[in-house]
Amino acid sequence: MLFCPKCGSLLKPKIEGNKKFLICSCGYKAETEGVHLKETVTKQTQKVEVAEEKMDALPKTFAECPKCGNKEAYWWMVQTRAADEAATRFLRCTKCKHTWREYD
Ligand SMILES: [Zn+2]
Ligand SMILES: [Zn+2]
Repeated sequence: MLFCPKCGSLLKPKIEGNKKFLICSCGYKAETEGVHLKETVTKQTQKVEVAEEKMDALPKTFAECPKCGNKEAYWWMVQTRAADEAATRFLRCTKCKHTWREYD
């Protein structure tokens, strides 16, 4: 359902010729052709890398590095997809700087 941006009333669909409109009792009229009701989710580029100078500020956690076997890693969260989805945790080995993402 769509609501009028002017007065907040529920818009009613109306067909005129080969065009579809949404009309409101206040006089508001919007053409619906080409209007997608679902918002396109902008795909965000995964930011895996974090600037080296910022690494010291990151929290550390117990995590085994898949590369060197070190048991400590920095971690940070990255919002990879839509905002309503859970963020992905990335880990970086404190020893060899190997970076990987945590799957759950
Ligand atoms: Zn209205
Ligand atoms: Zn490592």
